[in-house]
Amino acid sequence: MKEDYITFTIGKKKNIALIAHDNEKVKLIDWCQKNKELLKQHNLCGTGTTARMITDQTGLTVRAYNSGPLGGDQQVGAKIVEGRIDFVVFFSDPLTAQPHDPDVKALMRIAQVYDIPMAVNKATADFMIQSKFMKTTYDHEVINFKKNVSDRAKSL
Ligand code: PGA
Repeated sequence: MKEDYITFTIGKKKNIALIAHDNEKVKLIDWCQKNKELLKQHNLCGTGTTARMITDQTGLTVRAYNSGPLGGDQQVGAKIVEGRIDFVVFFSDPLTAQPHDPDVKALMRIAQVYDIPMAVNKATADFMIQSKFMKTTYDHEVINFKKNVSDRAKSL
């Protein structure tokens, strides 16, 4: 049973993805401004428009992927799978229908699969950014994808 999971380590310096739906962008930029000194200590990336606006308005360096509706959320999901993003702050809009809703759901699902901390509102983001684990490494158990493929290839 144990070998179904392997231990992954989230480094001291986190690879943080920042995403906000349009109605939530002001809130996320304000949150980044308030937490600028903490965020500066990590690698930041985000979906296209969010990343650009955070950089323009706070001076933080944020690597930009494509805009969310054009595949940016899927890029962030793919980086999680590759182990290159280990922390997500996504201020999603719970009151407006989004054209890329399936991509948003896919990102949330893949963050769950890979046990990645993900805040979908400000209160969760506040708790996460103040966590003692922001200053240390963090070991977590992630599904052993090699064993998973090998078992499935044998049994299906
Ligand atoms: P954006 O994408 O940062 O390019 O606006 C965010 C989203 O809607 O997922």
